[in-house]
Amino acid sequence: MTNAVMQTYAPADVVFDKGEGVYLIAEDGKRFLDFGAGVAVTCLGHAHPHLVSALTEQAAKLWHCSNLYRIKGQERFARRLADSTFGDVVFSCNSGAEANECAIKIARKYFAAKGSKRYRILTFAGAFHGRTMATLSAGKQAKHCDGFGPMLDGFDQVAFNDLDAARAAITDETAAVHVEPVQGEGGMRPADMAFLQGLRQLCDEHGILLMMDEVQTGVGRTGKLFAHEWAGITPDVMAIAKGIGGGFPVGACIATAEAASGMAPGAHGSTYGGNPLAMAATNAVLDIVLEDGFLNHVAQMGEYLQKRMDDVVAKYPQIVKGARGLGLMVGFECVVPNTDLVAQCFNNGLLAVPAGDNVMRLLPPLVVQEEHIEAAIAIIERSCKELSEKV
Ligand SMILES: *Cc1c(COP(=O)(O)O)cnc(C)c1O
Repeated sequence: MTNAVMQTYAPADVVFDKGEGVYLIAEDGKRFLDFGAGVAVTCLGHAHPHLVSALTEQAAKLWHCSNLYRIKGQERFARRLADSTFGDVVFSCNSGAEANECAIKIARKYFAAKGSKRYRILTFAGAFHGRTMATLSAGKQAKHCDGFGPMLDGFDQVAFNDLDAARAAITDETAAVHVEPVQGEGGMRPADMAFLQGLRQLCDEHGILLMMDEVQTGVGRTGKLFAHEWAGITPDVMAIAKGIGGGFPVGACIATAEAASGMAPGAHGSTYGGNPLAMAATNAVLDIVLEDGFLNHVAQMGEYLQKRMDDVVAKYPQIVKGARGLGLMVGFECVVPNTDLVAQCFNNGLLAVPAGDNVMRLLPPLVVQEEHIEAAIAIIERSCKELSEKV
């Protein structure tokens, strides 16, 4: 039987049947420690009882009704995000790329509504903002853009963490700077705090918008609710997705009232965005993530994991030469091909995710405990040992 799935992925030959906390269980019964979390999505692990009951209760009442009518869950979600961030207003959508599309449209509309000619957006080498045409054009990664040209006009790019280059690239047509506080797909590369602070200052000097792509870094992943908080600054616009639905496909774009001032009724929309079923999931995620002590736990587990990763680097320098990241968004810089280490870990029962710059990413559920980290490190060390015996 041939596979009718369009071959845009090359999946590992495993089918997962169910999940329990930080574990995934395959059809044949094999258990995997899930340190990929569906690429930073299942932040509360699998089958979290609070999420299951919130979603099943809502599923029995109402799934969808459209934004032609008020949706209480969406109003509550927006209010909670506004109250816990720099933002005043929230647009709900279905994915990270859509959240970034909304950010791009907000920036263009903001200046268009003022009669300004500013429309260009500055991004950074190694960026990943999604797979739609605008977000591909923003990311400018050859491996993603190849064959899909012409790209959308209006995006400029300079080196990541290079504030002087950013300053030099801003013209009287620049509308916004769009940056990931930690580049995820690009290889778990944290922005320097001084770089983020400098970008904020630069945007203020020019009266342009600072936009954060926190699709991967957001919702507690780095030990703060949002990663830009580490730098003590706030953006004007922020895209989030991944963790905010805990596994339900959701995205959101958060903005200050000023930045969103061009977004009048009819300016933007999404059929599914913020529907009752999705909002049951997001509000249930927020119930847990906003609980006292939750982010402390993430920060502590992040420190612990990073310390244990450094131990692995010291023990197996022929396999991994460094560890980097922020909170529970971390990666090994590999000496061997990253996919070899990911495959060896997979064989030994640990799920990890490759990233750019030959990095193996670890993105455990935020509810991970020390014992799970120890179990993961044991598998990684065993995998490094096996790989070093091969070379
Ligand atoms: C995953 C990701 C996206 C794209 O999200 P989708 O839900 O796949 O569209 C955008 N930006 C960043 C930083 C991401 O990590």
